[in-house]
Amino acid sequence: MPVSGLPPYDDANIFARILRGEIPAKTVYEDEWAFAFHDIAPQAPTHVLVIPKGRYCSFADFSATASAEEIAGLFRAVGKVAKDLGMEADGYRMLANMGQHGGQEVPHFHVHLFAGRPLGRMIPAG
Ligand code: 5GP
Repeated sequence: MPVSGLPPYDDANIFARILRGEIPAKTVYEDEWAFAFHDIAPQAPTHVLVIPKGRYCSFADFSATASAEEIAGLFRAVGKVAKDLGMEADGYRMLANMGQHGGQEVPHFHVHLFAGRPLGRMIPAG
């Protein structure tokens, strides 16, 4: 069920629980700013989620209220994960869903990384 992606932040959301270690995740990378883990329902041979450690509901919230350090930290982590997982040679897609029409389902900002096959059109027809 899509969410609005707007504050207030819900500390009970599934990615907040993963960050607190309450729910297991297949960790790919972690640093001061970001945490990356495999998506539970992969939509490509490799499908990883990269999330900020801060409490941000969506890209709308993150881009407006995160510090410059947090923003740089998150996006450097996205690039590092893609490189370290060997995605650069054949290419990859990064994507962030925001709100109802974006199809965002988890109200903690996350960047999807997809790789491992040609990924087709940016937006499916229909
Ligand atoms: P969204 O639609 O919000 O952009 O994407 C949410 C993503 O989170 C989906 O791709 C979904 O498969 C993934 N997801 C939902 N619950 C869990 C979970 O408990 N663990 C992991 N690793 N991924 C999850």
